[in-house]
Order: sequence, then structure tokens, then C-alpha cells
Amino acid sequence: MKPIDWEIKTADGNARSGILRTRRSVIETPVFMPVGTQASVKGVRFEWLENEMDARIILGNTYHLYLRPGVDIFKQVGGLHRFSTWDRSYLTDSGGFQVFSLNDLRRLTEEGVEFRSHLDGSKKFLSPEVSMEIQAALGSEIVMVFDECPPGDAGHEATRKSLELTARWAKRSRVRFDRLQVDGDDLGHIEADGLSGHQSLFGIVQGAGHLDLRDESLERTVDIGFDGYAIGGLSVGEEKSVMYGVLEHIASKMPADAPRYLMGVGTPEDLLEAVSHGVDMFDCVMPTRNGRTGGAFTSSGKINIRNARFAADREPLDAECKCSVCQRYSRAYLRHLYQAGEMAAATLISHHNLFFYLDLMKKTREAIRNHQFDVFKKNFLDGLAENDTVDV
Ligand SMILES: [Zn+2]
Repeated sequence: MKPIDWEIKTADGNARSGILRTRRSVIETPVFMPVGTQASVKGVRFEWLENEMDARIILGNTYHLYLRPGVDIFKQVGGLHRFSTWDRSYLTDSGGFQVFSLNDLRRLTEEGVEFRSHLDGSKKFLSPEVSMEIQAALGSEIVMVFDECPPGDAGHEATRKSLELTARWAKRSRVRFDRLQVDGDDLGHIEADGLSGHQSLFGIVQGAGHLDLRDESLERTVDIGFDGYAIGGLSVGEEKSVMYGVLEHIASKMPADAPRYLMGVGTPEDLLEAVSHGVDMFDCVMPTRNGRTGGAFTSSGKINIRNARFAADREPLDAECKCSVCQRYSRAYLRHLYQAGEMAAATLISHHNLFFYLDLMKKTREAIRNHQFDVFKKNFLDGLAENDTVDV
């Protein structure tokens, strides 16, 4: 099978800038992928993501889409792209992370996980094979292996057991995935859309905060062989120093000739830290989750628009930001919208936040190409002064 179409254009220290080509879009890396849990990036129209932010890839969540609207609907309408009208790339997660968040609603066996739907209590089952089948029906460009996600504070022995199960599941994911690329559900509508090319499969390195287990998980995952490699199990409640320690330890050891993806992380500072260790891809709910609660990311730090100090502030959220929200609306007006319970407050701040994240990655790519990444990172961190509490 043809490996993923990926090339590094420039390396600057461990940081690298590259190009990833899928059957639907050309993705410049490092890249931030907005999260579209329900095949919708919360509060933000695809038109804005396409035209103003130039997002080339977004996420869909297998767990949520499996429960609602369900796989049959995707088979009938011809996959996630036709259903949602997003015709650039999708990355779908495996459903594992969400299932393992349902502590008292699940039963884990070697075969897979039985759980009750949080929507109606009905019994459901996910396994490596089922997850690959769902992701084939969704027709995403990048598919994630089905893994077990141990809690961030899991002990050494529990984490080892978990990563051994994850390695066995990764192998089963690979086998089922390869078969589906030959006779899968998505092939018909991919051809009908005038596209060619298979889905890509990414493996996931687990091991929580235990560096020896991270090494072991990486070795086992690389042995199976994937198109890209993800770092899972971070930003799940551990101390930031633990996360940064894992990134420093493992990222540059991951295969250099494949994209590296840090799952579910994080703040703008976290992204730059990870890029400095050689990570290429990111996703996180923070821009939209904070947008809904009044938290805005700016070049001078995090602010919360609920703060009374913004009541008559005629400045935009971020004077340096080129987004259409900052070109037009003041902090005072956005604060008023939030206080009045207007839904526009959430959509406008989410819009700004996503623009800010995508723009940060664009500037990061430029800095790497100019071999100025360290200076860029330092200047960015030096500029962070405002420090309101926002949700993380
Ligand atoms: Zn803005």
C-alpha cells in the first residue's frame, strides 16, 4: 500500500515544516485541526473555516457520530463529507477516548468495549474492527487506531497492561483497516466524487507519564507500521511539567519521515512547546470551548470577556489579530453580548479563537521556513502578559 504523501520542507532544530497531501486537500504543517465533534465546529460556519481561516482539515468524533446519526445514515448519504458539505480533509478519532471517559457505563474485554449510550442507555460495542468499519463508512482521510486510554495518574503496572492491550488492538486495527481499503464502504462515493487514494491510518503512542513505557509503546507501534504517529494520553489531568517532559522525551524519537500528531492539546504555549520538539499536528477543543464561556486567546495572553474591566473597552479582542471579529467588534460590545446571553457572543469569540490558533500555526510555519522558530517562540511567550482565568 502506498505510504502517506508527506514531505518535510524545512527543519529548524527539531521543529519542522512540511506538506501533507490527502485525497482532498493539501495541508501545510505544523497544523491546528479545529474539532468538529458532531460534524460541526461548534458555533463556526464552514464558510469561515474555508475562506477566512483557510482550515484544510478538521476532526470528527467517531463515538458521537456512531451513536447519532449512526453508521446507516452515513452509508445512505455517502460519508461524512457529503453529509456535512465539508469537502476538505477529515481526521476521525477512534472513539476510544470518549468510551474510556464513561467510567461506570462500560465493560472492557480483550475483544473490545461494551458500553451504554449516554443518549438513550442502549447497549453498544466498540472494538478495533468496529471502529475501523465506522471510520471507513465515515470516509475520513485520516483514521486513528482504536486504543485504550488509561487515566493520566495511572500507575506503572496499570499503564503497562493498558499499553499492551493498545498494542494488540493497534495490530487488529491495522489488519481490519487494510482489508477495508480493498473492499470498504467508502470506495463508491470516493470514486463518484472524482477522487482517488485510500484512507491513512495513524498509530497512537501511550504510556502516560512513564517515559520507559512511552519508549516501549513507541517501539511496538512502529513495529506494526503506520502512516503517521500520534501521542495520546496527554492533557488528561497531569501536571504541565509531566506533559512537557513526555514531549521532550518522545517526540523527536518518533519516525522522522511520518507526521507526528499530539492529540487533544492544548494552549498556544503548549503548541509551540510541542512544535519545538518536532510535533506536526494538533487538535483541541479549547478555542471553541473557551469561546462559549467568554475566554479569548490573544497575542498578549488569555482574557475573559466577562471581566468588568472590559465594560467600556473600545479595543478589539486582540489589536494584532486580522480576523473579521477583531476588525469590527469591541471588547465592550462582546462583553455586553455575553452578559445579555446573546448566542453571538459565543460564535464571535469562537471565531476569533480559531482564527488565532490557525494564524499562530501559519506564523509558526513561516518562522520555521526562515529558521527563526526559537526567536518567534520566545517573542510570543514574552508577549503574554494578560492572564485571566479561562477554561483549560
Ligand atoms: Zn480576532
